[in-house]
Amino acid sequence: MTTIFPIEKLSQEQTPFYYYNMELLEATLNEIKSCTEGMPYKVHYAVKANANERILRTIQEAGLGVDCVSGGEVAASVNAGFDSKKIVFAGVGKTDREINLALDADILCFNAESIPELEAINALAQAKGIVADVAFRVNPNVDAHTHKYITTGLSENKFGINMEQLPEVLSIATAMKNINVVGLHFHIGSQITELDPFERLCEKVNELQCEVEKLGVKLKIINVGGGLGIDYVNPDENPIASFKEYFDIFKNSLKLREGQEVHFELGRAIVAQCGSLITSVTYVKKGTVKQFIITDAGMTDLIRPALYQAHHKIENITSSSSETVVYDVVGPICESSDCFGENEILPVTKRGDLLALRSAGAYGEIMASQYNLRKLPHAVYSK
Ligand SMILES: *Cc1c(COP(=O)(O)O)cnc(C)c1O
Repeated sequence: MTTIFPIEKLSQEQTPFYYYNMELLEATLNEIKSCTEGMPYKVHYAVKANANERILRTIQEAGLGVDCVSGGEVAASVNAGFDSKKIVFAGVGKTDREINLALDADILCFNAESIPELEAINALAQAKGIVADVAFRVNPNVDAHTHKYITTGLSENKFGINMEQLPEVLSIATAMKNINVVGLHFHIGSQITELDPFERLCEKVNELQCEVEKLGVKLKIINVGGGLGIDYVNPDENPIASFKEYFDIFKNSLKLREGQEVHFELGRAIVAQCGSLITSVTYVKKGTVKQFIITDAGMTDLIRPALYQAHHKIENITSSSSETVVYDVVGPICESSDCFGENEILPVTKRGDLLALRSAGAYGEIMASQYNLRKLPHAVYSK
C-alpha cells in the first residue's frame, strides 16, 4: 500500500496542496478494525490531527468514534455524521459555551481535567436538568520519551490531575448531583514509537484501578488516550503503524473488570501516512556553499518542522535525473525557521518540479495559517 503519485493529475492542480491517498486511509482503518475485533475496545479518532471533511466522513463510515478538544470539533463531527454517542470531549479549557454545545449534542462523555471544570459541567448540566457522564484525565507520570512539547503524561503539567489528587477529586465528583463518573482518562504524549511507555501506562492503570475500587467507585471506561507514532523516515516501507503490537500490549497487560470498555484516541497513527503536501519548486538558488530549493509551500502549510524540529521525508516526484545534489529545502515565508530540510540529497531539481513532503496527513492541513496573507492550500484525493 505504498503511495504512488498520479503525476498527470497532480500537475494540473494549483500548488501547494494536500494530496490524500484514500486507499491507504481505508487500509489503515481496516487494520484497526481487525486488531480490535472481538475486544471491548472503542477507537475514537482524535479530530485535532485532521478535520478535513472527506477524511472525517471516511473515518465515520469505518465505524470509529471521535475525540474532540473544542466545540468546533464537536460540531464538525456531528456534521460529518458521527453518532453523538461516539463523541468524547477533552481539553483543559472548555468554555461554558462549548460545554453547553456538547450537553445539547448529548455526547458520550466529557474528559474533565480539573475541579473547577467539573463544577462548571455540573452547574450547566443542572440548568438543563440532565446528568453529564464524565471521565477524569489523570497524569500517570509515565515518560513517553518524545518531544517536550508533546509529552503530556508527566505529573507537573497543565493537563489532567495528579494521581495523588484522584481520591479527593473522585469524592467531590461523586457528590455532585449532575455528574456521573464513568471512567478514567490518560494520554501520555504523541509520536511514541517505543511501545514500552504504553506498557508502563498499563501498569499504572492497573494500580489505580485497585485504589479506585477501594473508594467504592465503579469505572465503566478506561480511556488510554492516543500517541502511537508513525515512521516519518520510511513512509513507504511502513505505511501502516504497528497497530497489532500496540493493541496487543493492552490485551496482554491491562487488567479489565467485568463490563469495562477500553477507549483509544488515536490521531496521527490513523491519518499521517495518507497525506502529502505537494509543492512546486519556485527557484533553485546557488549560494557560495549551499544550494537552496525554494518551494511555494512554507511553514504556513506544514508547521511541524518549524514548531517541533520535525522532519518530513522530501521527494522530488517529477525529476527523472539519476544524478543527485545536496540541497537545503526552504519555504518562502519571512522566518528563518521556514525550512523543510537541510542537506537533503535529491535528484537534480529544477524550477517547476513537484516535491512531496510525506507523512503530512496529521497536524498538516489542520494547522495551516494565512500568515503572510497566503491562501490556504486545497486538498486533492486519490479517489
Ligand atoms: C492529541 C491528543 C490525542 C491524539 O494524539 P496522537 O498522537 O495524534 O495519537 C489523543 N488524546 C488527547 C487527549 C490528545 O490531546
